Amino acid sequence: MDKIYIRDLEFIGYHGVFEEEKKLGQKFYLSLELSTNLREANDDITKTTHYGEVAETVKKVFFQKKYDLIETLAEDIAREVLLSFPLIKEVKLEIKKPWAPVGLPLKDVAVEITRKWNEVYLSLGSNMGNKKENLEKAIKEVSKIRDTFIIKESKIIETEPFGYKEQDDFLNSCIGIKTLLTAREVLTELLAIEIRMGRERKIKWGPRIIDLDIIFYNKEVIEEDDLIVPHPYMEYRDFVLKPLEEIIPNFVHPLLSKRITALRKELENEKN
Ligand code: ADP
Ligand code: MG
Repeated sequence: MDKIYIRDLEFIGYHGVFEEEKKLGQKFYLSLELSTNLREANDDITKTTHYGEVAETVKKVFFQKKYDLIETLAEDIAREVLLSFPLIKEVKLEIKKPWAPVGLPLKDVAVEITRKWNEVYLSLGSNMGNKKENLEKAIKEVSKIRDTFIIKESKIIETEPFGYKEQDDFLNSCIGIKTLLTAREVLTELLAIEIRMGRERKIKWGPRIIDLDIIFYNKEVIEEDDLIVPHPYMEYRDFVLKPLEEIIPNFVHPLLSKRITALRKELENEKN
């Protein structure tokens, strides 16, 4: 990926946990490394990111309030830059405090963070009440999650229940989102939507108003007690693979190293 650098942008600011820091102010240096595609710029400013405008955006966030922590200031600047400049995929940001009140000789103290847009795929299912309305409501709720946009949406399909069979047929679909949230934050938001929509967990794989699962989070592999990504059953579930194939047929599963199309064909062959 190509880079744009802004190095040691200098401001006198009033951030810090100590009273004196907020009163007297001190020097800050901010450096940004912006990942983007410069190949297409072709000597046309509208096709690239104007670094003057980026610097102004950094300045705006820097002076909007007095932060206790440069960690939080860094977080807010990275977010604002990613939201304001659509061509920027990733931001690495360093904030240095050369006059940090540490009481020992040092060059500076600094924090550095890297933030980016994440590409995430979700599976949706409903087999209670007005199923189509439930799926539509859930998609609307996902579109309202902070710093999150829906980028792809599959058709809705009807499927027979998986696991516990004594229940109504399902309607399923998949969506792709781009988000600044971590996988865990996405999961928390999805569980909150499920609860707001009235979901109760009684029987494993039993009837539900809405089920929202994370299938992929970029190409990351996550294994925690309550968060497993890629979703561990996705390759056995036609109701996940079918809608996924419609929106990302060539996406390669990071553990199985196969495209969605191939996984779906394999599952189809196994059944016959
Ligand atoms: P299922 O989706 O398998 O039918 P549930 O919706 O009841 O089951 O999920 C129960 C728990 O699964 C959630 O509370 C969540 O913590 C956990 N979980 C683990 N990995 C994922 C994932 N990739 N997406 C969604 N939930 C997950
Ligand atoms: Mg679930």
